[in-house]
Amino acid sequence: MSSLLRGANRLRSTYARRGAAAPLLANATRVSTHKVSLPITTRLTTVRCLSTTQPRSIWIPNRESLGEDDPRLSEQFEDETDVVIVGAGPAGLSAAIRLKQLANEADKELRVMVVEKAGEVGAHTLSGAVLEPRALNELIPDWQERGAPLNTPVTSDNMRFLTSTMAIPLPHPPQMNNKGNYIVSLSNFVKWLGEQAEELGVEIYPGFGGSEVRYNEDGSVAGINLNDVGLDKNFEPKDMYERGMAVKAKVTLFAEGCHGSLSKTVINKFDLRKDSQHQKYGIGLKEVWEVDPAKHEPGTVIHSIGWPTDMNTYAGSFLYHFEPEKHLVAIGYVVGLDYENPYLSPYKEFQRFKHHPSVAPLLEGGKCISYGARAINEGGYQSIPKLAFPGGALIGCSAGFLNLPKIKGTHTAMKSGMLAAEAAYEKIIGQGEGEAETQEPIMLDNYEDSFKKSWVHDELYAVRNCQPSFHTSLGLLGGVLYSGLTTMITKGKEPWTFKHKKTDWESLKPAAESKPIDYPKPDGVISFDLLTNVARTGTNHAENQPVHLRLRDKDVPVERNLAVFDGPENRFCPAGVYEYVEDEANPGQKRLQINSQNCIHCKTCDIKDPSQNIDWTVPEGGGGPQYVYT
Ligand SMILES: Cc1cc2nc3c(=O)[nH]c(=O)nc-3n(C[C@H](O)[C@H](O)[C@H](O)COP(=O)(O)OP(=O)(O)OC[C@H]3O[C@@H](n4cnc5c(N)ncnc54)[C@H](O)[C@@H]3O)c2cc1C
Ligand code: SF4
Repeated sequence: MSSLLRGANRLRSTYARRGAAAPLLANATRVSTHKVSLPITTRLTTVRCLSTTQPRSIWIPNRESLGEDDPRLSEQFEDETDVVIVGAGPAGLSAAIRLKQLANEADKELRVMVVEKAGEVGAHTLSGAVLEPRALNELIPDWQERGAPLNTPVTSDNMRFLTSTMAIPLPHPPQMNNKGNYIVSLSNFVKWLGEQAEELGVEIYPGFGGSEVRYNEDGSVAGINLNDVGLDKNFEPKDMYERGMAVKAKVTLFAEGCHGSLSKTVINKFDLRKDSQHQKYGIGLKEVWEVDPAKHEPGTVIHSIGWPTDMNTYAGSFLYHFEPEKHLVAIGYVVGLDYENPYLSPYKEFQRFKHHPSVAPLLEGGKCISYGARAINEGGYQSIPKLAFPGGALIGCSAGFLNLPKIKGTHTAMKSGMLAAEAAYEKIIGQGEGEAETQEPIMLDNYEDSFKKSWVHDELYAVRNCQPSFHTSLGLLGGVLYSGLTTMITKGKEPWTFKHKKTDWESLKPAAESKPIDYPKPDGVISFDLLTNVARTGTNHAENQPVHLRLRDKDVPVERNLAVFDGPENRFCPAGVYEYVEDEANPGQKRLQINSQNCIHCKTCDIKDPSQNIDWTVPEGGGGPQYVYT
């Protein structure tokens, strides 16, 4: 029996001992059947129906206020582990693998659990992706023999400046040199990492979202609570209601990726940004195309800046030819979320970009098979928070280790997971072996130290001034020139460090000071309307569950966001979740409708809402996108 099944069964028996059915184990067992080479799924491309969820104010689970026999007060099942990792992405799985490698080598017992909100490992993973294999070489040196899905070595690298009609070649900054790198589907790579972890005895639970952080009486992190299952849209228990299980751990590692919902709460609780700056973000939108084999050039990497966004918007494209047998092209567009014009739609910029004369001929005659979007960290070195706190640590993009000039964060996410794993192992095994056998919470200050000595730190420090240099009066071209200078000549040795300016949500200008943008209509061949593309994400959330996009104040959308910014939510959301519609109850007025079942978990609304009124929370486990080849 695989370790995953053993783990799932262990969780199942915990529930059974308490006389209840484990709510999501169908999902938990599913991972053992995952395949690295997925068939290319032709997605439904019909228009999706939208539900009419009414916005509601944030629900704060105040169990104390409930009646004694309310099922939401039922006994909470508990499981105990040495380490629980929230999120089965590159960071979380690398941490899990490293922990079990160390324990197995020393013949020590160490229980490592990974919970993942996607129904399958990799199903919520969306990236570019060019993978720099540095961390992978360190973690699994024989990855080639183990069949890692790195099938497309990079063969050529191009950087272009686009005008509306021309593609002007630019010198390639050394940071972006991709020699020795591979073009991958990160979703498939993560599935493979999951299999490696499972072989070592890591317990992975897909379909389980971590919904709350648990704290000990002394304030240290004690683990997590999994989502309640079976609440209706009014947060009332349905017949099949099960209270979310508690997972108690000596160490909790938050590996939720960019702008994680639990990571956000621990960053605030422990004031982890006290000595660093706020995080900066972009939104990356991506499609995967099957193209005409005659046009496919495996290993080709093309990046661009310039058209269609204006010279004050930090944005650019990527285009990668990969999977030689399947003739796939990953094409995407990243827009810095510090853009100012509330009329800008990152989705429509991306659709317009594909019509550029240097791009469209490649897509003509091809078929779009996948779409998705995800926020990406852009703050770099200045925005790295304190990493460790009593009982746990942040790893990967939860902490913000993405190297922006490289547009790469997978290798740094993996390495940070490995460093945190080594630190946690040292502390946990230390505790077990006597001298530290106390009830003191574990503090991974050794992870903080090893990060500062690592190549991740050096890499991020060297490029720390690139992103902020785009926000001078010289705009995009000033940033390009400065970044070229710092990456080629000073290599980060300049004695100054630029500061980030405003937060992304503060950057939007009022609609009255902004110019509406006239986007062309999609042609249905190269560009698509939003709902056609959302259908390609395979997104599904169970009906009649609490809306996971919580408004702190339900009046703010109309009274501020619509009145001042002309309702930017329906332009920055890449999945058509937010719509201002006629308010039947108040004729002549608008209300915000939240189509939460379309949400693809990109986290953009939580970041860009100019009123900071939207709180993205984890929906019932297993829901969300079902990404393929992203
Ligand atoms: C458009 C785009 C292009 C990119 N291109 C590249 C590239 O070419 N090369 C490169 O190296 N990097 C690239 N990156 C960055 C790279 O994808 C990330 O740096 C990397 O995925 C970070 O890994 P992670 O494990 O920290 O987070 P993620 O990969 O985001 O994984 C986090 C996991 O945690 C899960 N999760 C989150 N919250 C919870 C919760 N509460 N409970 C349970 N599970 C949870 C998520 O479902 C997810 O599976 C790109 C990113 C984007 C968006
Ligand atoms: S609702 Fe928010 S998290 Fe969901 S897809 Fe839209 S912007 Fe992204």
